[in-house]
Amino acid sequence: MTQHYDLIVIGGGSGGIAMANRAARYGARTALVAAGPLGGTCVNAGCVPKKIFWNAAHLAGQMKMAEEYGFDTVTPRFHWARLKQQRSAYIARLNERYAQGLDGNGVTLLRGHARFSGAHRVDVGNTLLEAEHILIATGGQPVWPDIPGAGLGITSDGFFALETAPRRVAVVGAGYIAVELAGVLHGLGSEVSLVMRRHHFLNDFEPMLREHLMDAMLHQGINLLALRQVREVEQRTDGLYLHFHDGDCLGGLDAVIWAIGRRPNSSELGLEQVRISVDTRGFIPVDAYQTTSAPGVYAVGDVTPGPALTPVAIAAGRRLADRLFGGQTDRHLDTHLVPTVIFSHPPIATVGLSEAAAQLQYGEEAVRAYRTTFTPMFRAFSSDPEKTAMKLVTVGPEERIVGLHAIGDAVDEMLQGFAVALRMGATKRDFDDTIAIHPTSAEELVTLR
Ligand SMILES: Cc1cc2nc3c(=O)[nH]c(=O)nc-3n(C[C@H](O)[C@H](O)[C@H](O)COP(=O)(O)OP(=O)(O)OC[C@H]3O[C@@H](n4cnc5c(N)ncnc54)[C@H](O)[C@@H]3O)c2cc1C
Repeated sequence: MTQHYDLIVIGGGSGGIAMANRAARYGARTALVAAGPLGGTCVNAGCVPKKIFWNAAHLAGQMKMAEEYGFDTVTPRFHWARLKQQRSAYIARLNERYAQGLDGNGVTLLRGHARFSGAHRVDVGNTLLEAEHILIATGGQPVWPDIPGAGLGITSDGFFALETAPRRVAVVGAGYIAVELAGVLHGLGSEVSLVMRRHHFLNDFEPMLREHLMDAMLHQGINLLALRQVREVEQRTDGLYLHFHDGDCLGGLDAVIWAIGRRPNSSELGLEQVRISVDTRGFIPVDAYQTTSAPGVYAVGDVTPGPALTPVAIAAGRRLADRLFGGQTDRHLDTHLVPTVIFSHPPIATVGLSEAAAQLQYGEEAVRAYRTTFTPMFRAFSSDPEKTAMKLVTVGPEERIVGLHAIGDAVDEMLQGFAVALRMGATKRDFDDTIAIHPTSAEELVTLR
């Protein structure tokens, strides 16, 4: 028998759940089809478990400094399995909370894989669903390299499933996930190599950030292997071996983690049934209103080419519900000035244009950048003071701030408020006129010369 709804949401991750709940609250009869655990990548194999491990690694770093703050020497042992167990229990509670939220809003939850079987029609096993509006929010998955022995490694999904800490590990990749996993593993005691194809990582970011982070990682003892392309992975009695194209190799590894990118979950959806074509990388193209090329079919989140971040997927889903069911006819996502944090050690916070991108967009003459590097007070006590770096990028005679970039302790928690200021068009003068909070690191951003 066919079930009829106003909205069918495919995917129970960040974007799908956000839209389903908002639409149902407007009174839309809504069904959500979830193939995986509720909460999707972010909750189960992304932001949440990652941040828990980042917190643990961060704590380990803080404990090393405890003695200099007057404590007896503390050398606590870290139990990976214990943290994993507590993390799983926490995530199970989140899964349950999502189920309750959907139920409370009157969303019908169906478990299984959804597939288009025609215009406005979706199959979930033997169940046929029909709706005027259908949202695709199927997210993405890690890419595996196509080389011999690739299956001996794991991806970020496998990292979160690890039962014990790998003693020696290679992380292959140069994006934020690679950098974050390398930092967490090192912080929790592993011997880490980060293998990159190019000279450096985080290639799309303001260079100041990656240069500072590379220095910090080298100083911490992470082995940064640049210009290395893996040709093959081999299992030997003493562990895994990575063989590189240049003939070199890295061996004796307990784990190899591929962090070489993610691809959208678009190939199993029967998109041909609704004549939606994907781009060369499999992403579903959408306009500013999340509309695909098929009438009544929309897409949000990691399955689209936009920024692959949870708050972006959530905002897109909620705005779409506001537009379709809340009478807000022009409501849509604005991806201008999306703030981003990389949970590296130390963390990175960035919003807006790099200095070079601003020069390209506005011309070299129009751009003025302000930069500072300093040792935060908390670290100035330490015999190994890790520095913080910050940069403001301004344009025009009024020095409107178009980029803010920072790396160092606590910048992850600083960025959100500054991102509001940038969205409101803040100028350097506005920053200068703001009274500083002393003694903090954040005050450096309003006292830059
Ligand atoms: C290691 C890692 C760390 C990350 N850290 C951060 C971070 O710190 N901050 C941040 O903002 N973002 C982070 N992200 C990115 C974030 O997780 C994603 O941007 C976000 O989850 C995208 O949401 P989504 O709704 O598009 O897809 P997802 O959350 O991936 O949800 C899609 C869901 O759809 C389901 N599905 C797929 N096909 C079907 C089908 N045919 N039928 C039914 N269901 C289907 C999948 O099982 C999945 O549960 C991280 C990602 C990773 C991998």
